[in-house]
Amino acid sequence: MSQSEEVSMASGSTNRFFASLWTCLLAGSLLLVNCILVRVEAAKGDANPSVRPGDDFYGYANGEWLAHVSLPAGQHTYDNRIMMAEKTRDRVRGLIQESAAAHVPSGSVAQKVGDYYASFTNEADIEAKGFAPLTDEMGRISAIANRSTLSAYLGTTLIREVDGLTANSDHVFGVWVNQGFEDADHNLPHLWQGGLGLTESGRYLDSSPQAVELRVKYQAHVAAVLRLAGLADSDTRATSTVRLESRIARAFAPDSDAADVFKQNNPWKREDFNRKAPGIDWDAYFQSAGLAKLSSFLVWQPSAVIGVSALVGSEDIEAWKDYLRFHLIEHYAQVLPKAVRTEGSNFYGEILSGGAEAPDRVDEAIDATNGALGEAVGQLYTERYFSADAKRRAQAMARDLVTAYRGRIANLTWMSPSTREKALAKLAALEIDVGYPDTWIDYSTLKIVPNDAFGNMKRAEGFYHKRDLAKLNQPVNPVEWPLNVQVPGAVIMFSPNAEFFSAAILQPPYFDAEGDSASNYGSAGAGMAHEITHSFDELGNIYDARGRLRLWWSDEDRSRFHREAEKLAVQLDGYCPFADLCLKGKQVLGESVADLAGLLVAHDAYVLSLKGKAHVVIDGLTGEQRFFRAFAQRWRRVQNETALRKQITTDTHPPGEYRSDTVRNIDAWYKAFKVAPTDKLYLKPDARVRVW
Ligand SMILES: [Zn+2]
Repeated sequence: MSQSEEVSMASGSTNRFFASLWTCLLAGSLLLVNCILVRVEAAKGDANPSVRPGDDFYGYANGEWLAHVSLPAGQHTYDNRIMMAEKTRDRVRGLIQESAAAHVPSGSVAQKVGDYYASFTNEADIEAKGFAPLTDEMGRISAIANRSTLSAYLGTTLIREVDGLTANSDHVFGVWVNQGFEDADHNLPHLWQGGLGLTESGRYLDSSPQAVELRVKYQAHVAAVLRLAGLADSDTRATSTVRLESRIARAFAPDSDAADVFKQNNPWKREDFNRKAPGIDWDAYFQSAGLAKLSSFLVWQPSAVIGVSALVGSEDIEAWKDYLRFHLIEHYAQVLPKAVRTEGSNFYGEILSGGAEAPDRVDEAIDATNGALGEAVGQLYTERYFSADAKRRAQAMARDLVTAYRGRIANLTWMSPSTREKALAKLAALEIDVGYPDTWIDYSTLKIVPNDAFGNMKRAEGFYHKRDLAKLNQPVNPVEWPLNVQVPGAVIMFSPNAEFFSAAILQPPYFDAEGDSASNYGSAGAGMAHEITHSFDELGNIYDARGRLRLWWSDEDRSRFHREAEKLAVQLDGYCPFADLCLKGKQVLGESVADLAGLLVAHDAYVLSLKGKAHVVIDGLTGEQRFFRAFAQRWRRVQNETALRKQITTDTHPPGEYRSDTVRNIDAWYKAFKVAPTDKLYLKPDARVRVW
């Protein structure tokens, strides 16, 4: 599973910390949307034909756009992705609010979407109910009397809060149902560590003055939340809660493990929990989690399971109960009275993420509706903005890309014949889904009503949990969408072997369902082929055709690949936007090789799509010219110097201008724009890098 750079935020997470970050990211910049929309429609108007393409291709393709787009106030970067995210968010907001205002048939998708939103924005109702919605669950926590009842309660908190994309659970463990690391035939529960209010274990263990201060503020936040919920002695309870969390933090796997998926492949049998991780009454735990009958699990961080279980055995039961009360309130804070939400946004927004504005309730409601009813909103989105014809057109392009890739792989010189065979088999098995799912989630059993924000959220969680449990008895479904189609993004799953490109990322300027296909292949096509490359490069090398964790390159393949790629690193090293700062070829090499492969493959696919017919000339430009111009326009970006320097120093992607300069390695670009040896971007044929 991998999150590609195309993904802004995995949807479906109920983790309020991440949800509010997302909100803040978008909140400040909505004003610019309308003026940008007008420009985007006209790719031609964005170019500056007075610039010689062979001297400055990025400036030629984007000159007008760069001259007229300025950074929105408070932002350090602005580009197509940000523009699309804002535009899409406006559209989604409109659809959700329309559903809330309209009289739609009860039980319909629009009714559920509208009523979820309406309940969330019905603040008077939420205030009037106070903390009453938590009464039952608070009673269950108060009734915990021993290790067994504590274990049973903890089992009820094992719900889906994590997936291959969002690695944090706000309960002690989170579960994700997916195929096994080595077993592509069965879905298994993947168990993750969690339960830390400060989310990162380092924040509890670090002894720096800043970390100590953060913990003091966190403890004050815990006390404030407990006090608001009417619990006496909130300071004492907060002290023991933070102490317990610090002990949980000590059991967390080191952050460095997260980068190594082989370390997460820890198959545990049911009996291993008793043997390896004493403390929790595992029978009681799995019984209440609904997993009593299962024999096989995947434990991503064994140290956390062992450590938390030991703490269940050793810590004071009352300390656990206060910890659980606090996290129960935090988990549902968004549907509880405003005082607790304000306390949360003060702490998480201002203190933890550094001065973000308090989130707007409408934004929170949009996020929550997308999270709880992602595919319901997705249906409304695609009905209006992404037709079945658009999907068919994107599918045809994806098919051309795969055909083109097959040709590239078949001719690769750095792959040994046996590795090439595995690559071709993996390509043949790769599932590419574009636009939206063929089959949407059926929400008919999920009851959503207009005046019950808490109940709606709880029922939605129960709905997904039930669905997850059912999946444990079903075959692996490689076409289950891991992202919302109304979020501009793409996801490479690896396991199963599948890639997803949302309807929202298939929009202008990347893809225009009614527009010029040369531009579509040059922009969206090159982007998709970039992602497909990751399934076969050093990232994808660790998962086979069925998404099983295994290395399929040989050492010889790897060294030959590096030898080829090295040439590109040298080329990138030569780009110096500042007198004192050049790109670091090695740092951006993986992404730049994918850019190069993406462009080569997309160009092959474009030629295939013509089926031997001549290029149409539009606005005086040939298809080839429009293809490359769209590629350069894909990467346009304005950013301030600090942001640009930071990108060069830390990002694995080069700045847009140099991504656009990938064209220098493509023979067809020279032909399309008659680029001559005297032009600044000219590379001799033997200096052009291929790799793929
Ligand atoms: Zn990439």
